[in-house]
Amino acid sequence: MSNIDDILVLFERISRVLHNDGHAGGLKPTQWEALRYFSRANRFSRSPSALTAYLGMTKGTVSQTINALNKKGLIDKTVDDDDRRQVQIDLTTKGLKLLAQDPLESLAQSLSKLSGAQRQELHNDLGDFLRTTLRRRDGLPFGACKTCRYFKKNAPDGSPHKCGLLEEPLSASDSDLICVEHEKAG
Ligand code: SF4
Repeated sequence: MSNIDDILVLFERISRVLHNDGHAGGLKPTQWEALRYFSRANRFSRSPSALTAYLGMTKGTVSQTINALNKKGLIDKTVDDDDRRQVQIDLTTKGLKLLAQDPLESLAQSLSKLSGAQRQELHNDLGDFLRTTLRRRDGLPFGACKTCRYFKKNAPDGSPHKCGLLEEPLSASDSDLICVEHEKAG
């Protein structure tokens, strides 16, 4: 077996662990992914269409996932008064409470055993691998705002930062959130 095959088997096994752990708290793995996504996405990205791009699933499946989370009282949907097609999704208090019991925590404990340098290297390598893989399928990378080429740190007319693409102010906490429009800074 080649080195590449060995790595692929590791990905497969990790993905199986993630999938098996994703049946906790009365949710399905995709519902957990959506809940995590809405907790980490910025205000330009907390929509059904952005979630569809993030998950790389069909609109129908994503719509069922959102409806299930809504029925369980884990998310709120707000329709834009100016454009009824635009919907923003936010976690409810109940959703935030459930997220605090995220089954990914068991993997987080394993990762915490690595040194800071090992974690940084793993993060960089997996990030590069994911971006390359998504590019081949026209997928979107959804990086953190502060690593985007449009991010203007401490802009004179920012709050304190600004998005150079959308011309919108960005707070310090916005800078850590992920965005559907993200393009990695060179
Ligand atoms: S700077 Fe980039 S990631 Fe941040 S809001 Fe603008 S487009 Fe999105």
